[in-house]
Amino acid sequence: MTVTLNIFVMPKLQKYMKKIRRYKEKLKELIIRIGISYPIELELIDETLTKLILPCHLGIMFFGDFDVSFFKKISINLNQIFDSFFFDIRNLGSFNFSIKQFYKGVKKEFRELKKTSTKIKIHPTNKFYQILINRRREENLGMILAITDLPIFSSTNNNILFLFGEANLKHRCCIVSSLILKEVFYNRQANRVLVEKRIIKEIIHEVGHLVLGPDHCDNLSCVMRFSKNIEEIDQKKKELCKKCKIKLNKIKDDFNF
Ligand SMILES: [Zn+2]
Ligand SMILES: [Zn+2]
Repeated sequence: MTVTLNIFVMPKLQKYMKKIRRYKEKLKELIIRIGISYPIELELIDETLTKLILPCHLGIMFFGDFDVSFFKKISINLNQIFDSFFFDIRNLGSFNFSIKQFYKGVKKEFRELKKTSTKIKIHPTNKFYQILINRRREENLGMILAITDLPIFSSTNNNILFLFGEANLKHRCCIVSSLILKEVFYNRQANRVLVEKRIIKEIIHEVGHLVLGPDHCDNLSCVMRFSKNIEEIDQKKKELCKKCKIKLNKIKDDFNF
């Protein structure tokens, strides 16, 4: 009895399974189209890519609206941590995207914390990196950093939506986004001092990658610890731990300065 049933039922079942799988694929395509859209690939062009030589010149660019006094605070903090690693830290001023550039590679996502139907435009890191690479070469800098108030996602890691920051070691550039470091993003009262502290920690962290390499530190209070959320950023200090300081001094010795 069972055997007979199987002979007749199995092919039908397989047909249905095939149909369901086809619908699943179609649904996936639809979700991609309306929601989590695949960004266009933005390949980085860096024709005269050379290895980092230390000490070097560091440039900082601003994408968006930042207080003019902020640069000074950033450079004081970077000099405190990295000391003789930089000949100088240069303010390269602010940069704005043209409308066409602004939409390039943008991913639209629902804001996770606010139950609203409006989507937020997130920008791929490679879009910033290409501008940074060109500017780094023009200005003859060893490394370059961008700070933006736009939300960013990684061009190379699809798993993290909304980045605090990212460093591209090969191209010697890094970026920090202030948007999700802001209290207002979490529907809390604005707190400029706290947000500036978080941005500075993330800047030190990303520049730290350019100097120390891709590894994260497991010391809870070290600035080189990876932070999943703003609470973890608040927990860590804006300083390197003993272990990371030793690593920094070793690099200094290797480059003979
Ligand atoms: Zn990191
Ligand atoms: Zn450390």
